[in-house]
Amino acid sequence: MGTAIVWFRRDLRVADHHALSAALRHHEQVLPLYIHAPQEEGAWSPGAASRWWQHHALAALDESLRRAGGSLYLRTGSSLDVLEAVVRQAGARSVYWNRLYEPHALRRDAACRKALEAMGVEVHTYDGALWRGPSQVWTAENKPYRVFTPFWRNLRAQLGDAPELPLAAPSRVPGPAIDGGERLDSLGLLAQGSWVAGLAGNWTPGEAGARAALDLFAGHALTGYDVQRDLPDRTGTSRLSPHLHFGEITPRQIRHALARAAAGSAGQNKALEGFLRELGWREFAHHVLFHFPHTADRNLDARFDRHPWREDPAALQRWQQGRTGIPLVDAGMRELWATGWMHNRVRMITASWLTKNMGQHWLHGARWFWDTLVDADLANNSLGWQWVAGCGVDAAPYFRIFNPVIQGKRYDPDGAYIRRWIPALREAPAHLVHEPWVQPGFAASCAYPQPMLDPKASRQRALDAYANSRKQTR
Ligand SMILES: Cc1cc2nc3c(=O)[nH]c(=O)nc-3n(C[C@H](O)[C@H](O)[C@H](O)COP(=O)(O)OP(=O)(O)OC[C@H]3O[C@@H](n4cnc5c(N)ncnc54)[C@H](O)[C@@H]3O)c2cc1C
Repeated sequence: MGTAIVWFRRDLRVADHHALSAALRHHEQVLPLYIHAPQEEGAWSPGAASRWWQHHALAALDESLRRAGGSLYLRTGSSLDVLEAVVRQAGARSVYWNRLYEPHALRRDAACRKALEAMGVEVHTYDGALWRGPSQVWTAENKPYRVFTPFWRNLRAQLGDAPELPLAAPSRVPGPAIDGGERLDSLGLLAQGSWVAGLAGNWTPGEAGARAALDLFAGHALTGYDVQRDLPDRTGTSRLSPHLHFGEITPRQIRHALARAAAGSAGQNKALEGFLRELGWREFAHHVLFHFPHTADRNLDARFDRHPWREDPAALQRWQQGRTGIPLVDAGMRELWATGWMHNRVRMITASWLTKNMGQHWLHGARWFWDTLVDADLANNSLGWQWVAGCGVDAAPYFRIFNPVIQGKRYDPDGAYIRRWIPALREAPAHLVHEPWVQPGFAASCAYPQPMLDPKASRQRALDAYANSRKQTR
């Protein structure tokens, strides 16, 4: 009984929210609290695109809570100081939260728990962001997994055939009236300029936006997911990644809704299994970051610590701005800048071009993605970059260097994706759209840059450098 605090972090929803539901079950009053403390995330505090999303997701959460008679109490400062102060102010005897698994969050949360318990406050924490917390899946030898397929086999078996039922949204959130809260605008999360318009035109942050994206996917794209998910020109994937990152929707809600949509259709069920496997990659990424926390900043495979990465800020800038002269790479980087998102296949291709052909450290790419992706997620981003660079768990073999021309011809055969993002190539004939350099003078005639590097020669250089690094002893 009495008052409890629910500390919202990256679980910006009211439905299927374990901490909120539990607090409401056991207390008369519940104060939903959000603490803005980006300094606690160190080098990986939210980038510009994430801050934009965060602003709107917090506004949406506040609206949902208001509809249920509560509101989101916002504060800035150190999480520990704010929690201690608000506990006293509200006379709360319990604090509830859903767990996060990034290294900084684990350290911070452990310190907060210790201090609160020392004050005589009860702390209750829950898993919610994942199907299974990272310490619930182990190899037969009781070790963390380093390879995806056996990890997924184990997790999939744990999930069973029947989807778990998500928790309903509470109809009432009766909260105490407390002074001293801050206004969302004062957090300064929103960037100015035309870039923001691109984000706003493409996304609806918040729980309702997440639900709408899920419904759209269930109704239109699930059936063809197996094939369409690789075609960057189609809306063949769910685009749920930012909603998942901010906890506006849970994997449990997604599985439950999609299983209902697919019920009775063998084809849809097959597609659903493929989709669940992708969510399995997200679980795997969190598992890896939890057990190998240094992988946000350092190679998992130490043989790459002395790899001769190249430093070339001007070349890096060409990659960031989509001016490499390689159409599929440039299209992806421009999609990222214009919308805050990039198709998964193109993420692999742009990352391969940066780390292999250009020979630059994967962290340069990871940081750029971090600032510009609306779904920037430490676990998924670190795993994705180290996978492509070949220095992480379950890494792509070092000789796998994505060839952007072959990839383009296979997955964007008409060049529709390239034409959409590179106006200079909109009218390019089909035989030139993926490799405009093969016809002398053509690229210049449409004001498109020459390739910054010869794809073949740079591939060979990368193969030699990688073969050498792999010979290093660990
Ligand atoms: C270099 C690189 C960097 C990446 N950085 C991020 C990142 O910062 N944040 C992020 O969410 N994803 C990242 N990914 C993974 C993947 O590209 C995105 O999750 C996916 O494109 C999101 O689109 P979607 O929601 O339509 O995916 P769908 O195909 O609809 O998949 C559903 C969900 O499964 C999860 N998922 C799918 N593929 C992967 C994957 N390979 N790894 C982990 N989870 C996956 C995501 O949560 C996704 O929303 C990265 C991949 C690469 C190669």
